Amino acid sequence: MQMPDGKLAWLSDLAQQALAWLANQQIQPDPVNYAVAWAYFGDGLPELKAAINHRKSHGKPLEGKDLAELHQRFLAPVPDYDMGRIGHELNSMLQGLLQCLADAGSEMSEFGQSLGRQIERMEQDPSPAVFEAVARELMVATYAAQARNQTLHQRLEETRRESERLREELEISRREVLIDSLTGLSNRRALDKRLEEILVDPACTTLSMLVADIDNFKSINDTYGHAIGDVVIRNVADILRRTVRGDDMAARFGGEEFVVLLPNTPLAGALKVAETIRSRIEQLRLVRKHDNFHLEPFTISVGAAMLRTNESAENLFDRADALMYQAKREGRNRVMGEAA
Ligand code: GH3
Ligand code: MG
Ligand code: MG
Repeated sequence: MQMPDGKLAWLSDLAQQALAWLANQQIQPDPVNYAVAWAYFGDGLPELKAAINHRKSHGKPLEGKDLAELHQRFLAPVPDYDMGRIGHELNSMLQGLLQCLADAGSEMSEFGQSLGRQIERMEQDPSPAVFEAVARELMVATYAAQARNQTLHQRLEETRRESERLREELEISRREVLIDSLTGLSNRRALDKRLEEILVDPACTTLSMLVADIDNFKSINDTYGHAIGDVVIRNVADILRRTVRGDDMAARFGGEEFVVLLPNTPLAGALKVAETIRSRIEQLRLVRKHDNFHLEPFTISVGAAMLRTNESAENLFDRADALMYQAKREGRNRVMGEAA
């Protein structure tokens, strides 16, 4: 695209390239799209560059929603775990505990000193009146020490519970980054991460991938509403979760589309897993409890492919995805594997 009569000439080459590229594809240069375009022409993010080039080489046109997704994958910051607040909480907890220990320490040494003083008194005046007074004071001092000990005990217990809560909170935030909130399955970020690991894992000799998509999901949404649509998605997710095992990973790729990774599983095994999933979903009967409403049965289509030598994860996905679409074309509710 030609820049209008030099008005934008002050922009850097990179900015001009990015804007021209967006304009060429009739994509608005909003901040998200512009950030992706800028990153594409810059040198900082080769993975983003590769993802766009991969699409281009397959003749897929880019749209605004693709850029939004690329932005989410490569540019959006990973949500941080509010370390500032948690660090602060931990710190004040420790300070409190230290103070409590210090108080108890001085109380304890006071108790020791008081014991010493009583012993001295008894040595100087071993009379029954002194004995009685000493006994009374000892009792009081012992109670005081016991009470302090109890406080210390409680403080320690509180601190233990508090640190446990913080640990759980951290664990949850860490997981949330990788978990799809609707279904609890791994999300796309987790899938990408796992794929990267598998591709360099010498213990993983074969990898099969399933791409599954709910059939006619739009009409489920249109007929019953989005809330029921969400229930359907969650039930599909549950079946995936229950069907895969061990090193496998079931992920929600987006919308009503799922990906299953089956490391060390040849195509024949992957086809079996896919068929189990397909048939379990076909047999699923969902009933809404409060009005005994029976939802129409629904189905999925699945594509199954096995990683080839030197193949990229994206290419494997494209092949499984294409097979899934072939299954749709051939009538849906079926599994399509690559030709042997
Ligand atoms: P096909 O059998 O060809 O896959 O048909 P389809 O209707 O399932 O396919 P299409 O891609 O046209 O429709 C998918 C719909 O899924 C579009 C969108 O409104 C809906 N959808 C995507 N994400 C969600 C979600 O999280 N919840 C709900 N309820 N609907 C979603
Ligand atoms: Mg669908
Ligand atoms: Mg779909």
